Order: sequence, then structure tokens, then C-alpha cells
Amino acid sequence: MSEERDTVQCPCGRLIDNPDDYKVLYLKRELQEIDILCPNDSCYLRELGYIKFDVKGEKAKFREASFYPPFVTWNSGRVGSDSAERLLKDHLKRIASKIDWQRLSRPRAGTS
Ligand SMILES: [Zn+2]
Repeated sequence: MSEERDTVQCPCGRLIDNPDDYKVLYLKRELQEIDILCPNDSCYLRELGYIKFDVKGEKAKFREASFYPPFVTWNSGRVGSDSAERLLKDHLKRIASKIDWQRLSRPRAGTS
């Protein structure tokens, strides 16, 4: 079975085979950053990566996304760096495509 090679794992042990499993945190609108969190609530890493975006006028626009080194290194060790890079890039793309950009574009209440 090659399923194992298509699965990403957090160093806490949680397998992530579907990018929908990640939790995304929209808290850092001011910093123009979205946190990507491990689906495991008791994960010791918690933050696995981030998505950065620009706000031009009222519109939020994707800038860059990345996973943090501990998560990348862990997966490179499991499936090899080429596979890990391909898998993680694919996950980032799918996470970014699910971001509610409309919601980020909306001005906060109280501003303006
Ligand atoms: Zn974890």
C-alpha cells in the first residue's frame, strides 16, 4: 500500500490525510496572517504553518503560505524530502483555496 506516502503526519502523531482536517485561525487579520493548526487539540506544536495575505483596499489577497520547519522536517524524514515537499505544497494549495477570502475582505466593525 502506498497510502502511507500520501499522508502527512504531525510530529505529535496525528495523521492528516485530508487538508480539510487542519484548523485555520483567522485571528491575525491585523497581521495579515492566518494560522494553520494541527487538528489534534493537545498537540504540542499546534501551529504547523501560516498563510499570509495582503489587503488592498477592502480586498484580501493571497500572498504566501508555508509550513514551519519542524513539521516539514518530520515529514521529510517519513516519506523523503521530495514526496514531503510535493505533499505539503498540495496541502497548502488546498487550504488556501478553502480560505474564506470574502470574510477577510470585509472591514471590521468599528473601523472606517
Ligand atoms: Zn500535532
